[in-house]
Amino acid sequence: DLRPIRRALLSVSDKTGLIEFARFLAERNVELLSTGGTCKAIRDAGIPVVEVADHTGFPEMLDGRVKTLHPKVHGGLLGIRGNAEHEAAMAEHGIAPIDLLVVNLYPFEATVAEGAGYDECVENIDIGGPAMIRAASKNHDAVTVVVDVEDYARVMDEMSAHGGATTLSLRKHLAATAYARTGAYDAAISQWFARELGDTFPRRVVVAGELKQNLRYGENPHQQAAFYVNGVQRPGIATAKQLQGKELSYNNLNDTDAAFELAAEFDEPTVAIIKHANPCGVASGADIVSAYKAALACDPVSAFGGIIAINRKLDGATAEEICKLFTEVVIAPEADEAAIAAFAAKKNLRLLVTGGMPDPASAAMTLRNVSGGYLLQSKDNGRVTLDGLKVVTKRAPTEQELKDMLFAFRVCKHVKSNAIIYVKDGCTVGIGAGQMSRVDSSRIAAWKSKEAADAAGLAQAGTVGSVVASDAFFPFADGLLAAAAAGATAIIQPGGSMRDQEVIDAANEKGLAMVFTGMRHFRH
Ligand code: 5GP
Repeated sequence: DLRPIRRALLSVSDKTGLIEFARFLAERNVELLSTGGTCKAIRDAGIPVVEVADHTGFPEMLDGRVKTLHPKVHGGLLGIRGNAEHEAAMAEHGIAPIDLLVVNLYPFEATVAEGAGYDECVENIDIGGPAMIRAASKNHDAVTVVVDVEDYARVMDEMSAHGGATTLSLRKHLAATAYARTGAYDAAISQWFARELGDTFPRRVVVAGELKQNLRYGENPHQQAAFYVNGVQRPGIATAKQLQGKELSYNNLNDTDAAFELAAEFDEPTVAIIKHANPCGVASGADIVSAYKAALACDPVSAFGGIIAINRKLDGATAEEICKLFTEVVIAPEADEAAIAAFAAKKNLRLLVTGGMPDPASAAMTLRNVSGGYLLQSKDNGRVTLDGLKVVTKRAPTEQELKDMLFAFRVCKHVKSNAIIYVKDGCTVGIGAGQMSRVDSSRIAAWKSKEAADAAGLAQAGTVGSVVASDAFFPFADGLLAAAAAGATAIIQPGGSMRDQEVIDAANEKGLAMVFTGMRHFRH
């Protein structure tokens, strides 16, 4: 299954590594064909090369829209080697076989990302490139196709090892990559059109991704997994730089993403500690070391082996505090020298820096698998503000209660439903997550808060004198009564239940203040 490479066609927009590759090929007596700009670059480097227009006898035309769309190119890529009829036809029409195709496409995605105008985007839709890539890939039995600069070395290695030939296995791998590239390219073009038309959910969608990392396993060791990125430059898990520590696992990636997106919700110095994608403590403070201590106090038992997200530059004092606990991952926009030094001894701890915080209000799409399809929705970027609150009880909340309620409701958005969050002074003091009954979430949060208080030798649970947020309305008064029993003084919830009046009456009876947000934050 070895196929020697005797003739190559190179046509690349990104000229990185081109000359080195072209020189390698020329030194192995490969005849090089190339298009305008690529040809010039190769020729300027003193490497012999034939212009495609000279090879076909047909000029590049229409502003480059037609360069390689010629039977001498496509026949050379598609003709089946060893097939008598194909070879006779090729001979009759003077079609020389092309054994290696090196193409990277007009930078359509980058052009769109730079905010280029309509006409410029259209002009950056590559036509001949994808046509050649698809032709060469179809004929992978004989033809080697390279679409990524990263793969030049693989081809050179094989050619060196096999006397100028490539193996079928490599050609198949490269063909798989090549069709994914043309597929992703067309997906990007289609999405651009849909956006231009304001069509958020078009009749067909294609999801594209590029392999960032093969993972050791998935959620469990018997599952296989890999991490793909979509090229959106949002500061976060996909763009983070790992400064130290073990390789990130599937669960680390998922949990770290949840942690960082939560920390990004707040303007003040904030720390979120996450376990199994749910927070076990979130706090804002004057600085991150006090925020960290407060977040940890919420549920120090669960925080063991957790993931910590910080919305400020990580400093040495905070890093030293974090070192006292077993932590899987720390993610922050930046880390200073002292923090890096403090972590140096914790060889396994993964430290990630993102260079910035994502905008929690920015729009995006989220995708989820269901059997036989996908669910696509716009991301929950809803944010309740002070003006959006409606006081529904006799007692109006105090200023501190209002501040804590908004904090609690923002945390709710990042907690699996049913979510009940108790907050006091900008710090969670009880979190109930993922229960099938809202009243159970309320009870669990209060019970955990009591446990933490007992362990710390405090006279009363943190929930006493706290405010409580519910991600969705209370369908009955029981959830509210459980919160009142835990000592909460004020409640924030969407409202909208058939029994709202019953819940409001219960709040008035207990002397609680309650506000409705009109916005729900389910997270399933
Ligand atoms: P060059 O810099 O060599 O002039 O152009 C290289 C680019 O042209 C590559 O990105 C390649 O995919 C693209 N290309 C090659 N043939 C054609 C064609 O026939 N039509 C269009 N629109 N693009 C082509």
